[in-house]
Amino acid sequence: MVSKKHPINAGYRRSSVTSPYGLTRETQRALTRMIAAARAKGVRIVVRSGYRSYAQQKQILASKIREYGSESLARRYNAAPGRSEHQTGLAVDLWDGVTWGVGVRNTKTGKWLWANAWRYGFILRYPNGKEKITGYAFEPWHYRYIGARAKDFGANSNQTLEEYLGLA
Ligand SMILES: [Zn+2]
Repeated sequence: MVSKKHPINAGYRRSSVTSPYGLTRETQRALTRMIAAARAKGVRIVVRSGYRSYAQQKQILASKIREYGSESLARRYNAAPGRSEHQTGLAVDLWDGVTWGVGVRNTKTGKWLWANAWRYGFILRYPNGKEKITGYAFEPWHYRYIGARAKDFGANSNQTLEEYLGLA
């Protein structure tokens, strides 16, 4: 669990790292299987973001605050360093390579992921309407690898990891 309430420090190290996205070995293996399964159904999954370091996250938040001109707005979508799942190598941002933003939910890729990602050990980490629990606005692109327990979430789930772990 990494979130606004459960931060990790700058020295946090992941157990195993793979290229090209810096994901843990297990996460990458599951992602590769998922992308292949989607492709077989005619669905294109593009990885927009995988691992991000503490330093990179710090830069991203600073530039988003400048871009939005509002720190609180920037923080709804962008984690502070040490509070991003991307620092664990267990999280990925996925899209179809065309439509970014909340519109991802209505793309073929977004729909397929929400229905099928659990089969490969991934859950939609920031579901719609759960901002009070997760601390983040709806992100239909952000998936978190949790392994076999993803089957407890199933297709089109709006359950949060916080609720599942009894932390909500
Ligand atoms: Zn993300």
